[in-house]
Amino acid sequence: MAGQIRDYWRNFIDGKWLDAADGRRIAVTDPATGGVIAEVARGGSADIDQAVAAARRCFDSRALLEMTPAARGELMFEIARRLDDFADEIALVEMHDNGKTLANGYKEVELTQRYLRYYGGLADKLEGRQIPLGDGLVDYTVHMPYGVSAQIVPWNGPLPVGARSIACALITGNTVVLKSPEDSPLSLFLFAEACAKAGVPEGAVNIVCGIGAEAGAALVSHSDIDHIVFTGSVATGKSVLRAAAERVIPAVMELGGKSAGIVYADADLERTARNAARGIFHHSGQICSAASRLLVHRSVHDELVERLRAEAVRRSVGPGIESCDMGPVISQRQLDRIEALCDTGVAEGATLVTGGHRLERAGFFLPPTIFTGVSPDMQIANEEFFGPVVVVLPFDEPEEAIRIANGTDYGLAAGVFTRDLRLAHWTADRLVAGQVYVNDWWVGGVETPFGGAKRSGYGREKGQEALLGYVQTKNIGIRL
Ligand code: NAD
Repeated sequence: MAGQIRDYWRNFIDGKWLDAADGRRIAVTDPATGGVIAEVARGGSADIDQAVAAARRCFDSRALLEMTPAARGELMFEIARRLDDFADEIALVEMHDNGKTLANGYKEVELTQRYLRYYGGLADKLEGRQIPLGDGLVDYTVHMPYGVSAQIVPWNGPLPVGARSIACALITGNTVVLKSPEDSPLSLFLFAEACAKAGVPEGAVNIVCGIGAEAGAALVSHSDIDHIVFTGSVATGKSVLRAAAERVIPAVMELGGKSAGIVYADADLERTARNAARGIFHHSGQICSAASRLLVHRSVHDELVERLRAEAVRRSVGPGIESCDMGPVISQRQLDRIEALCDTGVAEGATLVTGGHRLERAGFFLPPTIFTGVSPDMQIANEEFFGPVVVVLPFDEPEEAIRIANGTDYGLAAGVFTRDLRLAHWTADRLVAGQVYVNDWWVGGVETPFGGAKRSGYGREKGQEALLGYVQTKNIGIRL
């Protein structure tokens, strides 16, 4: 699709489009070229104050709570419908500020609409309990919203990740201030336009772009927020939790991962290699639940690595506009970080099978990268690349595979590849991870709860279970 990206984008606060209070702006870069494509208002603490005040006013006005739950659901359906009008522009900005292909940009819109419709449908189905206390007494529970929900999303999938949290918040009666990611902020501004067109009450959804250490820190430490949803790195997550602890407010934490796929000797190696390649090279590995470690039974190790290498080298790497198989990583900073970690792998004695060095061209491109000869204590076996890099470790016994898989600080996702259902069950049972994929990385969807164990965080997004993170139970006991 041909199209022009708007030069300048303002923050969405209290239903209005506003410059930053101090007039500052952030330049947005196309990771496929390194060139600046737009500017956005650089929200700071004054803008966050204004957004939180608007969200508070809206919450206190009970504008959402006075709607029936079904009407709040209808509102989600209407946002989903309005997004159709922005689909072309969203696909375009996702291509230029995030490095996706146009086709994947459209998929982000579809996924976002799916979240909105899923949670819209659940709006009138969140039921409480009646608890029997005996004669003369009635006792029941209701779900009450927290109030103002502060949400921080990362740059890899800002639109669906932001929209699903906003949808959960709104249908349960909370209002939202979302700090959008400074590297890829544009699609969420278009989501805000869809909210405005759909008739979302003013102040119910506020979207402020800003630098993490400025606007993000100002938001999570604000004295008038009631709830936090944070998706991002463990390091930032810890500082967010310190701010939450200061105010004793709850937080849903969706953090990083170093997820292991275990390949047993009886696995279908051709399918497994294809699937594992997709699990790490999709969106250049910039997915928290990417298959970034492969633990392979020694008897099939060499064959699987060869098949994986073939998958890696057949992928075209280049700009989304050329519909290449794999696009850039998000920024110069990420490219430098990932490449430096690859150098560490080589220095640690691992074998670089393919990739590992940036492409000598404009933009931030690192080709699909595979390391073998990796041992569990190496830095590259423990640290998240958040790039298209997979480390392969051999094992001999299932218990050893479990030990290695569970041996990092993370516990986001894990996978098992085998034809033996008993072994698959046994393995899934012992893996410490929020989700386990059997014979297909990323089995699941909008309907399935998603979240981490250990340092990968807590609380769940997606599925019905996510709603429980946005409400607290109020018990009402009555003596008749
Ligand atoms: P990051 O932690 O640097 O940034 C995430 C967000 O936090 C950004 O919007 C950023 O502006 C903001 N931020 C930064 N400093 C802040 C501060 N002091 N206070 C408040 N907010 C602050 O992470 P990133 O590099 O943008 O994203 C990649 C990380 O996110 C990876 O670790 C990845 O695994 C994780 N991630 C997790 C999930 C999940 O659902 N579990 C999904 C996507 C990404």
